[in-house]
Amino acid sequence: MKFNTKAIHAGQKTEETSGAVMPPIFQTSTYAQEAPNIHKGYDYARVGNPTRTALEKLIAGLEDADEAVCFASGVAAMDAIMKMFRPGDHIITTNDLYGGSYRLFTKVFEPYGISFTFVDMTDIENIRENITDNTKLIWIETPTNPLLRVVDIREISELAKEKGILTAVDNTFASPYLQQPLNLGADITMHSTTKYLGGHSDVIGGAVASSNKDVIEKLRFQIKTSGAVPGPMDCYLTLRGIKTLAVRVERSVENAKKLADWLTNQPEVGKVYYPGLSSHPQHQLAKEQMKDFGAMISFSLKNDSIEAATKLMSKTKVFTLAESLGGVESLISHPASMTHGSIPKEVREKTGLFDSLIRLSVGIEDIDDLISDIKQAL
Ligand SMILES: *Cc1c(COP(=O)(O)O)cnc(C)c1O
Repeated sequence: MKFNTKAIHAGQKTEETSGAVMPPIFQTSTYAQEAPNIHKGYDYARVGNPTRTALEKLIAGLEDADEAVCFASGVAAMDAIMKMFRPGDHIITTNDLYGGSYRLFTKVFEPYGISFTFVDMTDIENIRENITDNTKLIWIETPTNPLLRVVDIREISELAKEKGILTAVDNTFASPYLQQPLNLGADITMHSTTKYLGGHSDVIGGAVASSNKDVIEKLRFQIKTSGAVPGPMDCYLTLRGIKTLAVRVERSVENAKKLADWLTNQPEVGKVYYPGLSSHPQHQLAKEQMKDFGAMISFSLKNDSIEAATKLMSKTKVFTLAESLGGVESLISHPASMTHGSIPKEVREKTGLFDSLIRLSVGIEDIDDLISDIKQAL
């Protein structure tokens, strides 16, 4: 099956007792057994729930994975992946990383004895020279947040395989519609389903997909043992969102391309960061690795100050000032004071994260309204 068909049908079947076309919300904590340990595949809802199973099968289908495991949030999914490792293990990751991932790695797992090296992954030499005998995982995020750099998943996965290291990709910004890391050689792909998969800013969730049996077994053990499970209602909302993933992302990308082009011609605007612009340093790689360029745009102002950015953001009417991304509605945010505020100014500016940098999650509204909203705010 092709992607657009899988988004509707992968792992989905008509409910047996009633013929319901949609998977029911199985709101139960436990399941009747015929005799001890003789049951229909479910014994307790921390371990498994049919609504969750439907979602796991659907996400596995979208990522071309053998299996997917769903979690209560994106960070819970990452937490479970990190618990596959042990004190002394080393992980290489990107220096342009989702703030919550950075906090999880440095504040939770470093104190437990797992070490992390943060590098600019757009140059593979930075990875190669930091590999040690203890390196167990390379954690990729692409496109990166908020600078939208694009990292070569295939090249890094090849290097990792050579060295017996696992590769994991946080695929949240791209969504499986635009990028399928396992098909590029990665071992693990992870999502905050809160974003494009859910797509309507009404539910928090996370998922990990893989065809590596050992990885899946360890993640299922985590679900059972640490219990960061999503509820059936949350799984249902995410299932419902995924059905329109392809059409939503397509429209969002179409809008983002037009908006990015328009932004590059505005006298008040400094630099525009969008992989779809031919001026983007990894434009060619994005073209090869992704089906299309995504719907996240960042830009700076010629007047590079927090005040100028704040003024602009308080004036938008269609773009809502909020964290998060990937919903049908357009959002605007300010990384320097919101998601990346804890990073010192000099460090931020070294990576290109300027005070006036503004991040847009472009939704599916009419492009004319999106452009005129930013225009009046500028
Ligand atoms: C939001 C996000 C996460 C964390 O997911 P939650 O569902 O908020 O826990 C991880 N990675 C990226 C890239 C994200 O945008």
